[in-house]
Amino acid sequence: MPAKKRQKSTTDPRRNKTLLIKNALLVATMDDQRRRLPNTDIYIEGPRIKQVGSRLKVTADRVLDARDCVVIPGMVNTHHHLYQTLTRNVPAVQSAELFDWLIHLYQIWRNITPEGVYVSAQVGLGELLLTGCTTSSDHFYLFPKGQPGDLIDREIRAAREVGMRFHPGRGSMSLGKSKGGLPPDDVVQKEDVILKDCERLVSRYHDAERFSMCQINLAPCSPFSVTAELLKESAGMARRLKLKAHTHLAETMDEERFCLERFGKRPLDYMASVDWIGRPFWYAHAVHLNDEEIKKMAETKTGAAHCPTSNLRLGSGIAPYPKMRDAGVPVGLGVDGSASNDSSDMLAEARMCLLVHRIRSGVKSTTTDSVLWTATRGGAEVLGRDDIGSIEPGKAADIALFDLNRLDYAGAWHDPLAAILFAGAGHRARWVLVNGEIVVDGGRLTRVDEESLTRRANKISRDLVNAAC
Ligand SMILES: [Zn+2]
Repeated sequence: MPAKKRQKSTTDPRRNKTLLIKNALLVATMDDQRRRLPNTDIYIEGPRIKQVGSRLKVTADRVLDARDCVVIPGMVNTHHHLYQTLTRNVPAVQSAELFDWLIHLYQIWRNITPEGVYVSAQVGLGELLLTGCTTSSDHFYLFPKGQPGDLIDREIRAAREVGMRFHPGRGSMSLGKSKGGLPPDDVVQKEDVILKDCERLVSRYHDAERFSMCQINLAPCSPFSVTAELLKESAGMARRLKLKAHTHLAETMDEERFCLERFGKRPLDYMASVDWIGRPFWYAHAVHLNDEEIKKMAETKTGAAHCPTSNLRLGSGIAPYPKMRDAGVPVGLGVDGSASNDSSDMLAEARMCLLVHRIRSGVKSTTTDSVLWTATRGGAEVLGRDDIGSIEPGKAADIALFDLNRLDYAGAWHDPLAAILFAGAGHRARWVLVNGEIVVDGGRLTRVDEESLTRRANKISRDLVNAAC
């Protein structure tokens, strides 16, 4: 592909050159030793963590007094549909399962505008930052006829502006209703158009370097909305261009029945038949997998985005997270789209993961340590990154600090790290850093005005839902 003017990560002039996190109550490093360090300093130069230790002899442009703070690596969100922040909590589908939920919401989503895509991305990414997430993927697959083709470009602009490390997926739907698929025909695209746009986005935005702020992945929507040809072509392109590729899989029993009826195969076998197994690939949900399929994913290092809230909301099931994790499947956490969550609260997702598996797999199956590992290192592995997900010298300074000196944590200091999952009514971090820049300061986004963004999103959301009535 021609090397065009690729837009690489840039240093933001608002960033302090040096920063010191001083005397943190506890630092959970999530390094290979999984160390928990009390009374610890972290010294940061530019985008990079330089030193971690107690009483560091350094001076810095800015010092954060972290004596009451639990410090964790910024969490990594491995599945989202940011545009859905405009259609949270739609009454007609509050109690619908996936296929009916989709069929109803397509009628609203088909009217999405470029401004809606941009504003909804700022909303969802802003919420993620506020709750301690510093890297997010997104899966955008909705390209209604009559709208410009640069909708993902708008999301990328939104991510740059809020300061999120971003892994947008060039989603796609090519199997409309008239061909036996689920989506209406006016939101699907032809395959050559999709593949050409994938190449354009990669050429323009994909930065494979260390500390990259933007990496594109290829993301056909699901087995019931794209053709086998598109899946095969996407897999080939991902391997050729060294990209990640992502889709929904094994989310519901309806999907399993669809695959058995249409392809004569279970969902994972179908994906294997179109060459979608191996390190480049990760699946959202992976709820309905048998032991043999889990083994296959582990052996091939095919990843999973575990989205417990969405799976409960839609009644899809409880994914076999403890089994996947123990078998060695790369697993990250995902909040999923806000029409099925209905928030982008990363800490709440981790808490949901901590609690839900205790029902099916026992109270000892899922600990705070394993959940936070999945939310940080697990997500980094799923997205193919070794420069984020832990607090150690040489890694990107993506860090979240949660202040325990609050009423909702009073009495929970016996185990400060576990406190942020077991306790806490509000999930706002006090500070969040991405590439060494403070993007949440005192529990507020530093780069956008939350009130005006909220007003703008509410107006667009009302117009969008009213247009479908
Ligand atoms: Zn999804």
